[in-house]
Amino acid sequence: MGKLNKIQAEYIQHTFAELDDSLKELISKAKEATLHAYAPYSNFKVGAAVLLDDGSIHIGSNQENAAFPSGLCAERVLLNYVHSNYPNLKPLAMAITAQNSDGFTQEPVTPCGACLQVMGELEKSWDIELPVFLSGEMGIIEVKGIHNFLPFFFNGTLLK
Ligand SMILES: [Zn+2]
Repeated sequence: MGKLNKIQAEYIQHTFAELDDSLKELISKAKEATLHAYAPYSNFKVGAAVLLDDGSIHIGSNQENAAFPSGLCAERVLLNYVHSNYPNLKPLAMAITAQNSDGFTQEPVTPCGACLQVMGELEKSWDIELPVFLSGEMGIIEVKGIHNFLPFFFNGTLLK
């Protein structure tokens, strides 16, 4: 009755204390971005920060809209911004944080499927596997590359 195949995904658990200073700064910038979120409907504020290979850090946050589908997640706000403004720089790492009514989330927050699709597209464009640091107050999870998030992401190779 068919052949069962399995796909493994890898991630690394970190504590904040063990991260190097540049990653600590990246996470703190994501937290700063979280405070800029426009989330009057969900009150779920997400911030993302990306470190580019010139050493610069850029941030984005979720931007909701009364016409709900017109809003955009923090990850796509940020990744589309850096891809359009810094086409010759490559991201080295991204961090994501989130806040609900209790404050910064205890558990790491994960990107939605639509953001993962964009992340996969841009990884292909940049020719990188992006390490993404999902930050919660209890700990941090590092996931590197779209294949560990969304192994069947639509990669466009059939668009010919
Ligand atoms: Zn999303």
